[in-house]
Amino acid sequence: MKTIGLLGGMTWHSTIEYYRLINAGVQARLGGNHSARCILLSAEFEEVERLQEAGNWQALDRFMADAARRVEGAGADFLVICANTMHKTAPAIESAVRIPLLHIADAAAREILRQGLRAVGLLGTRFTMEQDFYRERLETRHGLRVLIPDDAGRKAVHEVIYQELGRGILSESSREKYKSVMHDLRTRGAEGIILGCTEIPLLIRPGDFPLPLFDTTALHAAAAVETALG
Ligand code: GLU
Repeated sequence: MKTIGLLGGMTWHSTIEYYRLINAGVQARLGGNHSARCILLSAEFEEVERLQEAGNWQALDRFMADAARRVEGAGADFLVICANTMHKTAPAIESAVRIPLLHIADAAAREILRQGLRAVGLLGTRFTMEQDFYRERLETRHGLRVLIPDDAGRKAVHEVIYQELGRGILSESSREKYKSVMHDLRTRGAEGIILGCTEIPLLIRPGDFPLPLFDTTALHAAAAVETALG
């Protein structure tokens, strides 16, 4: 079994889910008392958030490259960033280490294509929804059409992530807000919705909305198990 290198703490609420899903996945595949071999480096998220807000992605590149080197040095065979947004630093990580990075957008795209969908709505932080690093990978590498919420919808989705989900707050009113944003995406042609922030699946559960929902935390964790076990 390969050793999974987890770059976590972004936020710790979703890193717990990664840890649980990866161990449960290995145990389901191998049975007995088997569990995952992994190394976790958990970041101090307030530092990360401040740099994101300041738009200081150079510092975040250095921060993530340094974390990746440390996890590689500790013996990881491949890397998993336990967040969507921080995949903006994927190129910096990939040039800092020799081990591969398992990209979360590829894990999501694989399942979307397996279900035969082409047009998907994307929910995540403003960075993930508005910038190229994530959408473009889905569009150019995987041929998907990606729809994002309108400005008010993006603002609402982003704020709930940083003001509530990252602090462990799950509220019915935010669930309703998300449902209305998803409804709008559906009206505009989305055939499914990417829950493209690793905390969103804590708020939005399967069955909360009548379209296929792509839980990036679960899909990424499953891809990590598959890669670890070969
Ligand atoms: N976990 C989140 C994501 O998947 C947001 C927190 C962050 O900015 O890293 O994008």
